Amino acid sequence: MKGFRLFRVLGIQISLNYTWFIVFGLIAWSLASNYFPSQYPGLSRSAHWTMGFLAAVFLFLSVLAHEITHSYIAKKEGIEVKEIILFIFGGVSQLGKEPENPQKEFKVAIGGPISSLILALIFWVLSKATSQAPNLILFTGLLGYLAFINLSLAIFNLIPGFPLDGGRVLRAIYWRKTGSLRKATQIAADTGKWVGMGIILLGLFWVLMGNLLGGFWFVIIGIFLRSAAEGGYQQVVMKGALEGVKVKELMSRGVISVPPSLQIHRLVEDFFLTHKHVTYPVTENERIVGIITLKQVKEIPRDQWVEKMVREVMVPIREEIMLDPEGEAVDALQKMIRTGEGRLPVVKDGKAVGMITRKDILNLLEIKTDLAA
Ligand SMILES: [Zn+2]
Repeated sequence: MKGFRLFRVLGIQISLNYTWFIVFGLIAWSLASNYFPSQYPGLSRSAHWTMGFLAAVFLFLSVLAHEITHSYIAKKEGIEVKEIILFIFGGVSQLGKEPENPQKEFKVAIGGPISSLILALIFWVLSKATSQAPNLILFTGLLGYLAFINLSLAIFNLIPGFPLDGGRVLRAIYWRKTGSLRKATQIAADTGKWVGMGIILLGLFWVLMGNLLGGFWFVIIGIFLRSAAEGGYQQVVMKGALEGVKVKELMSRGVISVPPSLQIHRLVEDFFLTHKHVTYPVTENERIVGIITLKQVKEIPRDQWVEKMVREVMVPIREEIMLDPEGEAVDALQKMIRTGEGRLPVVKDGKAVGMITRKDILNLLEIKTDLAA
């Protein structure tokens, strides 16, 4: 999932997924035009819009507080947090690794819902306190809504289906009981899929009853939960199977590289069609300067294949498109997924020492999971 970078809190990058802008607008609009006018008909239109806008901003901050709590506990437990991405249904804290024992998993998972519960309580107390003053009714309404939304956040996240917080709590409990992260994840993910199915059916029922928007929303959440449960399980299996496997153990060592001054038509004839790889490192004085892939060549019109050189077309080398021989295979695979490149050079001291493909990693994964089954 991609994010739009916002700011850093406690050394953690906070990003917004683009879906958030849509949700933000929808929430502000539906609150200002429906919810607040029906609850507080005595207020003006501009007051309703102010409330709607502020409610959406504070909803965003509430979700952020929930995620920051997860990340803060994770960091305290020695788990690196790469990024927090806020998206359509809430947020995701991207942890550098899975918690290594059930106790840590439990603490990290439960922290978010507890912070939402505490916020709900604070907003509820504040709304009660302001309800005595009639000129503060705008705040009373806003605070009451925020108490409700934080309580909903806590309850929704406590649904016992992986990858929701409640599912992680469930997983931690089973993990402790069985001693197997894989089995525990499978149980929690299966529960997640059933919960997702239940939410979809509930949504469809609502649609049939005439509540189109609410029902449709539930169907989307249910579908999302099901696929997240599936994906979360696969990721754990993958990480388990690739644990400890290094890039250098999987890479092919006979690197065929091309010089930057090579013409494109020669590159096609002598490399793509001869060696049948789709990506080559570009090296100059034995140092890697870039990579060239079939994708870039395809973008050059054929009549320019003689005049254009590799140098003009290649992707200059940078951290995101090269691998460390000592790096973990599972990280290499994630890099490939992130960049969309199926074949990356392995670089040591500026030299291309090997190439590794997605297929190399997936083959090993298949063999290992076959053996484990
Ligand atoms: Zn959470």
